[in-house]
Amino acid sequence: MKAIVVHAAQDLRLETCSSRDPGDDEVQVQIERGGICGSDLHYFQHGGFGTVKLREPMILGHEVSGRVVQVGKNATDISQGQLVAVSPSRPCAACEYCLQGMPNHCIDMRFYGSAMPFPHIQGAFRQILTVHKNQCADAQGLSAAEAAMAEPLAVTIHAARQAGNLVGKRVLITGCGPIGLLCALVAQRAGAKEVVTTDISDYPLVMAQHLGADTTVNVTSDDSPLQSFYAGKGYFDTLFECTGVAAALAQAIPAMKPRGVIVQLGLGGDMTLPVQQMTAKELQLRGSFRFHEEFFTGVTWMKTKKIDVNPLITHTLELDQMQQAFTLATDRSVALKVQLDFS
Ligand SMILES: [Zn+2]
Ligand SMILES: [Zn+2]
Repeated sequence: MKAIVVHAAQDLRLETCSSRDPGDDEVQVQIERGGICGSDLHYFQHGGFGTVKLREPMILGHEVSGRVVQVGKNATDISQGQLVAVSPSRPCAACEYCLQGMPNHCIDMRFYGSAMPFPHIQGAFRQILTVHKNQCADAQGLSAAEAAMAEPLAVTIHAARQAGNLVGKRVLITGCGPIGLLCALVAQRAGAKEVVTTDISDYPLVMAQHLGADTTVNVTSDDSPLQSFYAGKGYFDTLFECTGVAAALAQAIPAMKPRGVIVQLGLGGDMTLPVQQMTAKELQLRGSFRFHEEFFTGVTWMKTKKIDVNPLITHTLELDQMQQAFTLATDRSVALKVQLDFS
């Protein structure tokens, strides 16, 4: 079977690798769709991000879905042929943080396609993947493409959890990539009164509008694009910062009301914070990193039609077009979520 391996920045290879039969608690999945994520793009474009650098070849990918082809003897609630969304979150279930109910902070996390630990954790962009039964969310009723959106959706449900109660809140979202757009959908679902989104391209902002954002702002339009929200000590209760760009956060701070909550999702390397302004407004900065049980919540929300992710999936390319797919995914002016067809 084939897998997508990154060797260095701009060096992606389609390589043959072996598959493994499932153990008693495992199932073997024939991958159908894989979504290209921001972190895959960081490895592809720069060989890593922040302090995380590729030190050996690594199979990319963590947003996958597929059909079960072999079932271990303890995986009794999963059947052959079933469509599943595969959670890339693989905590150890035994460390201090796992035992405290914070599996996303597991000391021994084996999240697919991550160069954080060494040896790196090999990813899920391969035609056959053997997974633990607990990683599988039943996706019957969804398309394989929708099921492969469960991971980014889970990231944003976790972020909404970090934000706390959103009912009646005015929400600002900086950055309208798939994560920013999913934040907009989740914030609306969680009861936000108003959602305003920003980006540097018009294309994702049109999409944000289509998905129900009340106002969209192209921040390249003038020097102080959020000025209209600065009066009276600000306008927004909650910010979802999805760019990882210091300037985006700096522009947003004066638009935040005192005691507002900033949820930082963007991971663009180090950011400088306007600490003085944040302190004077008593703003709360909360990180949001990955997810765990939210993966299954996300799949349920899609199955019960609470969230429709389809408009975000703008392109699907065959495996042998992976180079084009990764290049396309870096261009926010034409693409949102780009998926690969592994079948
Ligand atoms: Zn992802
Ligand atoms: Zn653990």
